[in-house]
Amino acid sequence: MKIVCIGRNYADHAKEMGSEVPQEPVIFMKPDSALLRNNAPFFIPEWSDNIHYETELVVKINRLGKNISEKFAHKYYDEIGLGVDFTARDIQEKCKEKGLPWERAKAFDGSAVIGEYFINKTEFPDLTNIDFHLEINGETKQSGNTKDMLFSIDKIIAEVSKYFTLKIGDLIYTGTPVGVGKVNINDDLKGFIEDQCLFNFKVK
Ligand code: MG
Repeated sequence: MKIVCIGRNYADHAKEMGSEVPQEPVIFMKPDSALLRNNAPFFIPEWSDNIHYETELVVKINRLGKNISEKFAHKYYDEIGLGVDFTARDIQEKCKEKGLPWERAKAFDGSAVIGEYFINKTEFPDLTNIDFHLEINGETKQSGNTKDMLFSIDKIIAEVSKYFTLKIGDLIYTGTPVGVGKVNINDDLKGFIEDQCLFNFKVK
């Protein structure tokens, strides 16, 4: 399986990063070795001093597809989960300065946290109005709602599948809202969609 991530999909987050609001989705990928499941602890790698959390809704692909039209994109996923796109911000800044690829900053082991379970999309009355949030040590650090996405889930699937065949089990991280920040040793991260807790793990 592969992990596809969308960058700068919330205008306020693009702004906090000093980035332009994109005209088309920013797409990057992580290998399956980046996955961190079952509330396993996240270990801060020794080569970074500034690992940021980015809480994101995650769409799980349920069938094979290529060049999927936006109109039919809803047939390609049934479940929505929650994850963290961990980012080594110090390394990413260096890569950006030099115009180099981001993989060292984005695709390292453990950088793609995925919640313990997914929620069937039929449980949401409106996919364009889903609340999610992150708590660190009991304090809310990020709150998002899908209504603020620059590119909808269906638009993202259409765009991504122009370039990459989507396969069953592929995960799409749909971008983070404003409020990213650094994690520290012993932090306790809890992620929620609406009032359901999908992950709760420690930083070590
Ligand atoms: Mg992200």
